[in-house]
Amino acid sequence: MTHRTSQPALLPSAEDLRARAERAARACGADLAAHEGDHEGRSPVNGATISSVAWSGAADVREAVARAGEAFGTWRTVPAPARGAVVKRFAELLTEHKADLATLVSLEAGKITSEALGEVQEMIDICDYAVGLSRQLYGRTMASERPGHRLMETWHPLGVVGVVSAFNFPVAVWSWNTAVALVCGDPVVWKPSERTPLCALAANALLLRALEEGGYDAALSQVLLGGPDVGEALVADPGVALLSATGSTRMGRQVGPVVAERFGRSLLELGGNNAAVVTPSADLDLATRGIVFSAAGTAGQRCTTMRRAIVHTSVIDEVTDRVAAAYRRLPVGDPTAEGTLVGPLLDRQSYEAFTTAIEKATAAGGQVVAGGERELAGLAEDAYYVRPTVIRMPSQTEVMHTETFAPILYVVPYDDLAEAIELNNAVPQGLSSSIFTQDQSEAEIFCSPVGSDCGIVNVNIGTSGAEIGGAFGGEKETGGGRESGSDAWRAYMRRATNTVNFSGELPLAQGVTFDV
Ligand code: NAD
Repeated sequence: MTHRTSQPALLPSAEDLRARAERAARACGADLAAHEGDHEGRSPVNGATISSVAWSGAADVREAVARAGEAFGTWRTVPAPARGAVVKRFAELLTEHKADLATLVSLEAGKITSEALGEVQEMIDICDYAVGLSRQLYGRTMASERPGHRLMETWHPLGVVGVVSAFNFPVAVWSWNTAVALVCGDPVVWKPSERTPLCALAANALLLRALEEGGYDAALSQVLLGGPDVGEALVADPGVALLSATGSTRMGRQVGPVVAERFGRSLLELGGNNAAVVTPSADLDLATRGIVFSAAGTAGQRCTTMRRAIVHTSVIDEVTDRVAAAYRRLPVGDPTAEGTLVGPLLDRQSYEAFTTAIEKATAAGGQVVAGGERELAGLAEDAYYVRPTVIRMPSQTEVMHTETFAPILYVVPYDDLAEAIELNNAVPQGLSSSIFTQDQSEAEIFCSPVGSDCGIVNVNIGTSGAEIGGAFGGEKETGGGRESGSDAWRAYMRRATNTVNFSGELPLAQGVTFDV
């Protein structure tokens, strides 16, 4: 154990954390008494219990989906701009309660305050986007081959949207889905991570208030607390038209076939294994800052966390040294304390995955050049803080092909750009990627069809920290889903192609004749 004097000396007490969590949840309007139960939720900040909630059962899932289905009957007839007005009100309430919700994100997911506030800001941003979208759910008009005919497509509400979400974005991912689903005319039933029940109850309480003020049905937004079995029941329910699932590839592998088997629609946002390529022309100051934020931020617990740096042999020593030096200075500790940049891992399992990956990497010839140790272990037995870790690897080995949800950055060398792209693409996941270069042609090649095979391909920024305006998601084992901006809304609606004949004749397409 390493104890650094620059770190916050103490972690908050169990009583303090629980009181802060309850205060923040109640301020958002969460009815904790109504959800009281025997499933204890512990905070990664100090390992103490901060919630005791009841979990739903399979019957609750059936009932929630049925209620949502009934609410859909009316909601789909509400004009989209009026649906947008509810989302607008929700954004106002989120703005008012930004600090409360951010507190819960920090206490349940372990995010530092700035990132927790950023997560709530992302909710507000997607609401703004969805409000505008509520007046822009456009279809196209196409040229018909027949005289006196109009060919067009119209978009209609789809039905009940089921959302299964991960612990590390305990509120933003739900709101990406929910703000867009609501303006598209769909109710939402949400199974949040079992690790973040207070975040879910608080965020949903704010939306329920916006719905109530508008005179709309509370069944339009429901939360089902529980573990994977509650998720499984939601996934299998034929009343769920679209199932949006965010989490590990392991989870997606179970969910995808179940939804496909019942011909439902799924939107899968799964694990990532993201790399940056650093070329000889890169601005190394900028690259270092981009790498440190993406690789060590959120304690390595983002789907877009940078896990691999593929660095040209001419600059690899300098890049490794700069990143390692920055890592040694990172303040690790209580995520709610001012100045902390790296909070805790989620739990013991995450810590074990961290140590196992380091062992595998060193066995494969890797050299740990920064980090690798647990920190603050003497302050709370069941809280897991680690120093972000840089491992110089001789080549891209097996351990680098799996996503370890912890702050480990592997640095590997390359000699020419084609080799760097091959390494970038050689992993089973395909979420995010970036290139640091001042050479325009290298940047263009990386973004071209022969470049990165990921859903997110950046130039001169890191792999994490996407804005809501673009479509978010990735290829291969990341699941292929797209959420948030651009035309991601189409997943939440069904398309009808309409051919309208105003000619008074009945010409058939493709010149077919069928006269009787
Ligand atoms: P997880 O897969 O353990 O759990 C995610 C959610 O799925 C939880 O709500 C869980 O209860 C539920 N679940 C688990 N098994 C299920 C099943 N068989 N059927 C239905 N529901 C089931 O993931 P986690 O540890 O909470 O989150 C970390 C993972 O999520 C990482 O792999 C990360 O990359 C990924 N993630 C991806 C994105 C993205 O947008 N691509 C975003 C955030 C997190």
